[in-house]
Amino acid sequence: MSATRVLVLNSGSSSVKYQLLDMRDSRRLAMGLVERIGEETSRLKHTLLTTGDSREWNGPIADHEAALKAVSEELAKDGLGLDSPELAAIGHRVVHGGQTFTEPTVIDEAVLTEIERLIPVAPLHNPANLTGIRTAQALRPDLPQVAVFDTAFHTTMPESAARYAIDLKTADEHRIRRYGFHGTSHAYVSRATAELLGKAPEEVNVIVLHLGNGASASAVRGGRCVDTSMGLTPLEGLVMGTRSGDLDPAVIFHLMRVGGMSTDEIDTLLNKKSGLIGLCGDNDMREIRRRVDEGDEEAQLAFDIYIHRLKKYIGAYYAVLGRVDAVAFTAGVGENASPVREAAIAGLEELGLAVDGELNAVRSGEPRLISPAHARVAVAVVPTDEELEIAAQTYALVAVGKNS
Ligand code: ADP
Repeated sequence: MSATRVLVLNSGSSSVKYQLLDMRDSRRLAMGLVERIGEETSRLKHTLLTTGDSREWNGPIADHEAALKAVSEELAKDGLGLDSPELAAIGHRVVHGGQTFTEPTVIDEAVLTEIERLIPVAPLHNPANLTGIRTAQALRPDLPQVAVFDTAFHTTMPESAARYAIDLKTADEHRIRRYGFHGTSHAYVSRATAELLGKAPEEVNVIVLHLGNGASASAVRGGRCVDTSMGLTPLEGLVMGTRSGDLDPAVIFHLMRVGGMSTDEIDTLLNKKSGLIGLCGDNDMREIRRRVDEGDEEAQLAFDIYIHRLKKYIGAYYAVLGRVDAVAFTAGVGENASPVREAAIAGLEELGLAVDGELNAVRSGEPRLISPAHARVAVAVVPTDEELEIAAQTYALVAVGKNS
């Protein structure tokens, strides 16, 4: 029997998300989440997708090792355990691959050392990703483990886009540059958009708007990223659920000198208490739209600031690309919030961009066009699937020659 299953692991500081897929037909077999690891009130939620049955377990889960063991036990109950010979590999989402990792990479000691070396530029994410990898290795030392980096898709950016205009020596010493994130999603969605247009990725230029709780835009020319809105960290760019996105860097000096705030306080303010939640107290677009419809002025202002920033990036990336074939909306807000899509594209007719009201109102999990027929530039909704992309990249790397 050939091994065709891939387990995708996304290890955060206090959570592990997982999906098990069968790559013969890209079918999802199981998925789940362990959250609040290290607390008394940890929770594991497991769903067997072949039947739709879910199980939940509540109680203390001390660390990532205990979490992965618990996941393995849940999978084993469904005959899908980590010890199964059908498991071909484990694919790990790794947030920061710096300039080193431009592609998915089979993990060995040297790779682990390099991911560790990148901790100073990804202090919140890479340590948790490393813990996830080491734990999975301990459980299945014989199995190939693959790292799929959030930054990899953006490594094709030219220096003119990746560099900040600061002293080169200082920048290089501290590895300060635009790395970009959500790369797996931008890669998947830009390719799926080309497919929707019936073209090869090399033939099309796409602006991808990944609008989830975190949000980023990218300009993709012929399948390669040429610019993206997140930077050294995921703080830069669009207005997000809880992050400010772009702001004058001097705001930080001002908050220190005049506001008397510490570095950590400002970090928390800008990453956790800004964006939509800072502007109106809610970060869920559904709630914001409900309030807007009731005439709530704060919610309206938050929505307007969100849209204004989005429009600026569409315009900027239009100029960067010169010719645009499609603008693709994706992730929680992009896939579901028709008023966001409508408002972001409104007034851009001169650029060949428009949204058809009826098409925009359709709710569907499928990639679809929402621009009027014969529009010069396509506007599309393309559901993202980062887990499938990680599984596909992992499988492509380890299955070569194995199952032939
Ligand atoms: P994450 O960045 O956590 O992966 P998602 O891509 O799942 O986020 O997006 C989550 C966000 O999507 C929510 O915070 C909410 O604002 C938005 N969202 C989800 N469903 C809807 C909906 N039906 N209408 C409007 N917004 C939605």
